[in-house]
Parts: sequence; C-alpha cells; structure tokens
Amino acid sequence: MKLLEERIQKDGIVKAGNVLKVDSFLNHQMDIALFNEMGKEFKRLFSDVEVNKIMTIEASGIGIACIAAQYFHVPVVFAKKAQSVNIDGEVYSTKIQSFTHKRVYDVIVSKKYLSPDDKILIIDDFLANGCALEGLIDIVHAAGAQVSGIGIAIEKGFQKGGDMIRSRGLRLESLAIVESMDDQTGAITFRH
Ligand code: 5GP
Repeated sequence: MKLLEERIQKDGIVKAGNVLKVDSFLNHQMDIALFNEMGKEFKRLFSDVEVNKIMTIEASGIGIACIAAQYFHVPVVFAKKAQSVNIDGEVYSTKIQSFTHKRVYDVIVSKKYLSPDDKILIIDDFLANGCALEGLIDIVHAAGAQVSGIGIAIEKGFQKGGDMIRSRGLRLESLAIVESMDDQTGAITFRH
C-alpha cells in the first residue's frame, strides 16, 4: 500500500535491534485518515473471504482493527494481556513472547466472545517473528473457530514470521512489507 510505505519512509525511525518506530502515526499518535485507508484496503484484500469477527491484541492492534471493522461491519475482540491467568475455565489463554518488550505475556480471551462458527480475521500492527500471531491463532483454534485471514499493517519481511505463517497455508496480507532497514543510515526498502 503506497500511502503507508510513503508514510513509513517519511516518519518511520529505524532503531537498533530491528525495531521500526512509527509512534507519530501508528503506535502512539494515530493518523485516523491513514487508518481509514488501511481499513478500506483490508476490506478490498479480504473481500472474497467470510468474516464475522475481527480479532486483535492489545494495545496497538486495537485502533487499526476498529477502523477496519467499520468496513466489515463486524465486532472486534481483542486479546488481553493478563497479569495472571485465572484458571476457572472461562477464558482461552496462551503465552506470547513480546518482540518489543522482551518478556512473555499471558494472553486471554473470554470464551463468551469466541464460538466454533466464528470466521475470524486477525489484524495486528506489526509482524516480526510471528509470536503474537501464533498465540492468536492458537486461541481461535482452541475455540474451534476458523482463521479466515490475517491482515498486518507492517510486516518486517526479513524476520521469520511471514514465512512461518504463509507456510502454514494461512492467508496473510501485509499492507507494507519492509525488505530491509538500517539503523545506521535510516534507510528502509520495501518488498513488492
Ligand atoms: P512478533 O510477535 O511477530 O515477533 O511481533 C509482533 C508484535 O511485536 C506486534 O504486535 C508489535 O506490537 C510488536 N513489534 C514487533 N516488531 C516491531 C517493530 O519493529 N516496531 C514496533 N513498533 N512494534 C513491533
């Protein structure tokens, strides 16, 4: 998606450790006009699949998922990062290794909001090593529901998550795929 690539080139900051900072338009301050275009593009890309619910993970996925949901006319469920997992059986839970915070979170979704007839579109801001997506996919499958597709704003194509998800036969669409980035020069290139 050209608009997103241009914005990453203009305002993205490459940090050491393969981290791309996009706080000025996506992860802290949010450019809603841009999110709106992203939502429209997700709808176009997934127009041929059945979706009755969008799922994301707090915090950064929520804004993008909500704007996209207005085009799909479906609710958004977000997985919560829990301090401790209650084991009363009311939640689906999994563990996710955070790429940016270098720690493992317990992540939960109430059983009330997922059912076996759900056709889920998973949306998130970034795809790096794929841990967040693996956790979300586990939760969808634990509910007996189906992953209809996965929509990512920014995939870092030089990390393993994209290949891992595609090799599982899942439909993954990323709006921008960063092919390489250099924290010394600030250079960013995209895959097309
Ligand atoms: P993964 O689980 O695929 O390794 O990492 C994806 C998650 O880590 C995303 O939900 C995102 O919040 C965060 N993340 C991974 N890489 C980056 C990055 O380069 N920049 C930012 N801002 N977040 C990232």
